[in-house]
Amino acid sequence: MAMNQVGLLERAGEQSITKQRFDRFFLHSKEESIDYYAKAMKWAQEGFVDQFSSNDKPYSGLPHEDFTKLFNQTFNEILPENESSVETLFKNIGEIILKHSIVVSNPTCLAHLHCPPLSAALAAEVMISGTNQSMDSWDQSASATVVEEKMVRWLSNLYLKSNRADGVFTSGGTQSNFMGLLLARDRYLKKQLNWDAQKDGLPVEASKLRIFCSKDAHFTVRQSAFLLGLGEQAVISVETDSEHRMCVNDLDRCVKEATEQGLLPFAIVATAGTTDFGSIDPLAEVAKRANHYQMWFHVDAAYGGALMLSERHKHKLTGIDLADSLTVDFHKLFYQPISCGAFLVKDRSNFDFIKLNADYLNPEDDEETGIPNLVTKSIQTTRRFDALKLFVSFHALGRKTFADMIDYTISLARDTATVIEEEPDFELLNEPEINAVVFRYRPQGIERSNDSEWLNRLNGLIRTKLLEQGHSVLARTRVNKSVYLKLTLLNPRTTIEDIQSIVSQMKHLVQIEAHI
Ligand SMILES: *Cc1c(COP(=O)(O)O)cnc(C)c1O
Repeated sequence: MAMNQVGLLERAGEQSITKQRFDRFFLHSKEESIDYYAKAMKWAQEGFVDQFSSNDKPYSGLPHEDFTKLFNQTFNEILPENESSVETLFKNIGEIILKHSIVVSNPTCLAHLHCPPLSAALAAEVMISGTNQSMDSWDQSASATVVEEKMVRWLSNLYLKSNRADGVFTSGGTQSNFMGLLLARDRYLKKQLNWDAQKDGLPVEASKLRIFCSKDAHFTVRQSAFLLGLGEQAVISVETDSEHRMCVNDLDRCVKEATEQGLLPFAIVATAGTTDFGSIDPLAEVAKRANHYQMWFHVDAAYGGALMLSERHKHKLTGIDLADSLTVDFHKLFYQPISCGAFLVKDRSNFDFIKLNADYLNPEDDEETGIPNLVTKSIQTTRRFDALKLFVSFHALGRKTFADMIDYTISLARDTATVIEEEPDFELLNEPEINAVVFRYRPQGIERSNDSEWLNRLNGLIRTKLLEQGHSVLARTRVNKSVYLKLTLLNPRTTIEDIQSIVSQMKHLVQIEAHI
């Protein structure tokens, strides 16, 4: 036997022992592997569920520095040299890290567009991460590619009502808004200037490109503009009416002014559910303008898109089907664990503007045989099978339950606005369109109530104290330079009693803190 063959055999023996050592860390058919997986899952689940059964506050109240100390004491190394028992590990994670996390499922955790996740979707996450499919190519996902395509088709019919529509799951609104404006920019350059941005980058005229959105649009419109190399200067803010909706007369004025200055208007972004007020721009009216000026019409329905499931409220989205592209988030009013969103486009041929062919992922001969490689529609390569959790949730709850939850939170927001309006020392800022209520504490009959600096400090302090006490989690926002508090009522388990308790606690706090 040749020397190198002897060497190979010896090495094979060693490798088999080494391999056995790794065996249990991965899931396969061997008993010890299944045993390890089942234990890890059990301990993780217990560490997690324990935090829910033993805790009725939305936050422990532990200050930032104290948590850092606690963490350092428990986990003195980031990468220890040797193995740890999963039991101890997950117990510690539960008792140290989860215990001091924000409990988004708590009915008084009402700060942001940050939802309690559905349990059915959490179970689906086990399958999503367990199978670890990647949506970029058919050969890394197979059935998952088909499921995502089915979901996208369904969503396209729901929102855009067109056979030419298509879309892709995304990490959320930031990515979807970026993709909308990317396609809008590149299509404009191709059509109007016969310029291929994918190949040649930006032409000199790019500094004249302009995007129009209301002044209450999400900051990711500006962010997209600078990421697209157009600079924030490319975004023109349109005035809003008293309900924080885009004012179409001002849109006309802005577009006219820009055109007269020789600028190049190419996209309008309407918002269906602004982050602060849940306001919905007049979509059909804005669509008419976009069509008239031949501009791309993108609708950011990250928040409000869910109203489409509700018979009672879907009329608020009238005109959404006129969008050239659309953002919808499922990790908001669709109650999905982060992250889960979609980007939809009215005419699928626009995806050609971001398409690249990589020989190893989506060779052109796959296209000839009709094998779909979803990477052609995404700016992500490796991508999660998030479509599955939405599919599971749809089946587990059914449309009616989704609609009832959405309807409930909208009526809860109305009732909350009424409670606040009836409090003499509170000032309500908006009649909620969806489920965000913005207000501030402003005591009557004392001179300081006109001191805006004092009011800002007082309202900021109320929010911080509520968080420190772990009583409730509210958001703080600024409107016309003044500090306001915001309740985002996404949780269908929040009741008007929870709201009354928050209001009483605020009044109580103000009495203690009034000396500031
Ligand atoms: C949340 C939100 C976004 C950003 O979406 P992410 O999912 O956080 O990336 C954009 N627009 C609106 C209106 C939103 O509410």
